[in-house]
Amino acid sequence: LTERLGALRDEPAVTLDGRSITLYANTGLLADLDPALRSGAEGIGLYRTELPFLTRDRFPGEAEQVRIYRQVFETFAPRPVTIRTLDIGGDKLLPYLPVHEDNPFLGWRGLRLSLDHPEIFLTQLRAILRAAPAGNVRLLLPMVTTVEELDEALGLIERARKELAALGESAPELPVGAMIEVPSAVFQTAAIARRVNFLSIGTNDLTQYLLAVDRNNARVAGLFDSLHPAVLHAIGTVVAEAHAEGRPVSVCGEMAADPVGALLLVGMGVDELSMSAGALLRIKWVLRSFSTAQTRELAELARNDECTRTTRERVEEALLEAG
Ligand code: PEP
Ligand code: MG
Repeated sequence: LTERLGALRDEPAVTLDGRSITLYANTGLLADLDPALRSGAEGIGLYRTELPFLTRDRFPGEAEQVRIYRQVFETFAPRPVTIRTLDIGGDKLLPYLPVHEDNPFLGWRGLRLSLDHPEIFLTQLRAILRAAPAGNVRLLLPMVTTVEELDEALGLIERARKELAALGESAPELPVGAMIEVPSAVFQTAAIARRVNFLSIGTNDLTQYLLAVDRNNARVAGLFDSLHPAVLHAIGTVVAEAHAEGRPVSVCGEMAADPVGALLLVGMGVDELSMSAGALLRIKWVLRSFSTAQTRELAELARNDECTRTTRERVEEALLEAG
């Protein structure tokens, strides 16, 4: 099987009738880059920048960040790298920024922290902008909850560009995307989409927040399921509204790495999937075994299911039939 999958490395990810789905890898550590390249990923759909911050004992400075980011951008050029601004908080705490909260996943995390600390955010933005000419870079903002936050973040991106221009450095205008991973953002998809170039659904957090199930709590792990009808409904809404605004939608949560999840996402019209490199060839094989019409039908049927189990069993059966 590994051999059969390996042969797919340089084949396109297309459905039987030729619809192409872009497959990207998720990354965070420089050590992930090689597996991502070897998996045949068409780029990086999610570069989690918090990892270099977590492995140090202080905030990495601007020059150090430029070096790290540039290495990632260069490795993948000319393929796109989607770099997400700091998503610290929740379960990812910096030893040098101690925060004590009763509900960290509902607390000071992601964009919230960046907006409260514009000096940290601007340093990261300038570092990204300065490294950007080395590759094909897209910026992604995590944990967008309100349109006001998004507008403030877009303003700071502009400010970082002006600061660089004032220093006589080239400051590219990068495509910007918003993560849809908080339920409020699902219901404001159109307003968010109008302000950015693309959307990326984080199904890990979206599932956690829609189902009120801590993504890391073993006691409720049985309830954590991205195939829950409410999650599927939310994703369907996001895709429809984003497409109505002419914006592409990617999915970068674990759901994209699950064959059942990936089929349903493609059936719902998702344009790009990003996953850990280890899952990529398997997902490519799955997508190449189905027609667009089949994936659409599975997604439509799932839409009317009342329970997750019905959906999973039906799609698994379809996967078995496909071989
Ligand atoms: C997600 O929430 O689905 C996601 C991709 O981001 P992270 O897992 O880093 O929170
Ligand atoms: Mg997330």
